[in-house]
Amino acid sequence: MWFLPLGGCREIGMNLNLYGHAGQWLMIDCGLTFNAPLNPDNDYQEHVKRYPLVAPDPDFIEQRKDLLSGIIITHAHEDHLGAIPYLWQRFQKPIYTTRFTAEVLRRKLSEFEFGHQVKIIEVSPLEEHVIGPFSVQWLPITHSLPEPCGVVIKTPAGKVFHTGDWKLDSQPVVGEGLNRDYFAQLGSQAIDAMVCDSTNALKHGNSVSESACESGLYHYVNLAPKRVVISCFASNIARLITIARVAQRTGRRMAVFGRSLVNMIGIARRTGYWPEDCVLIDRRHVGYLPEHEVLIVATGSQGEPRAAISQLAKDAHRDMTLQANDTVIFSTIIIPGNEQPIKQLVNLLQQRGVHVVQSHEALLPIHASGHPNEQELRSMYKWVKPSISVPVHGEPEHLSRHGVIAKESGVKSALVGQNGDLFQLSAPVMVKRNAVTTRRISIQRPD
Ligand SMILES: [Zn+2]
Ligand SMILES: [Zn+2]
Repeated sequence: MWFLPLGGCREIGMNLNLYGHAGQWLMIDCGLTFNAPLNPDNDYQEHVKRYPLVAPDPDFIEQRKDLLSGIIITHAHEDHLGAIPYLWQRFQKPIYTTRFTAEVLRRKLSEFEFGHQVKIIEVSPLEEHVIGPFSVQWLPITHSLPEPCGVVIKTPAGKVFHTGDWKLDSQPVVGEGLNRDYFAQLGSQAIDAMVCDSTNALKHGNSVSESACESGLYHYVNLAPKRVVISCFASNIARLITIARVAQRTGRRMAVFGRSLVNMIGIARRTGYWPEDCVLIDRRHVGYLPEHEVLIVATGSQGEPRAAISQLAKDAHRDMTLQANDTVIFSTIIIPGNEQPIKQLVNLLQQRGVHVVQSHEALLPIHASGHPNEQELRSMYKWVKPSISVPVHGEPEHLSRHGVIAKESGVKSALVGQNGDLFQLSAPVMVKRNAVTTRRISIQRPD
């Protein structure tokens, strides 16, 4: 039983994992990342303008595509599925995923000529599918969007629990709270290895529940004297529903600015996640409402220059002009590498007299991370009891801290490695360092 990460190991973003057994491979996730902090070369600005996104080079598996049994997508974040439209033609294998993720993927693929050729097999949580020599069971977990799943991969040579992105959240606002029984049951199944999210391994204690954001957001919206604009990640349907509830409680009407928000709410409606009583108003009607009745949700929390919030800051948005004493709330984190554009955006807003609330400065929670802190990792290791821990989805310091936490939680060995290392997860357990050459490739979005 082999594990071979081509992306996402010693970095956060562009996950592409391969599992190998009996001469066959199984791909888990196929994601993108922003280019900006990663390739600072001479023609940096020009390069970023032309190729704002990068993906893992899939050459290794493309050369062996006849041996690839299928592709699993754990959830609908860009760092897990964003590269499918750009790379899928290189392997052309069926994709297995849950319904919400399938819907997101279909919408993306509809912009590509070959999109209709992609075979997407919808899987329900807890179902088991045989894909080549791999028997795969989907385990529902909690994260920061609908239907995230971890997968248990079983072969005669070994069993692996690949967690995907997760946190322990008893009240995720959308979907069921985390059911620890699923993971406790793994504890009696002699799981060989757990390949696990390291993003917040350096953070102590437990993460904040998604449901805790409502009181924080209510506080700041309720204080706001005039119009309110909130920026959050479009895929976080739970957060959007929380904001809609806050709008109801504060007597405001909610509209959304930005294509990805419109798309995601459309998908949430289609898949039954959007509550019918959360009514949105047409963005073109915002200008006719009294200022204290307006609540806008806008794209662009990471300072993306063409997104709605940057347009508002530059007074270039067609539907609204921000004025002094309006409030802008960033219900997100600053993704490392985006500090500079976000700072510029905040400065621009403050120069216009707008009150800005950012989650790292707010006294009350207005953002909840979707990844496990130290205590949550410890709980998961205590339940699953794997023999081996393979920390992924993190930078070097996250991976090594995660390895220490795993060992302190009773795991025999923690294999900390990087993209291109080949991990043998069944006896004799070992890592062939740099077994495969990996690199990033640039992606050009269609216009
Ligand atoms: Zn991720
Ligand atoms: Zn994620």
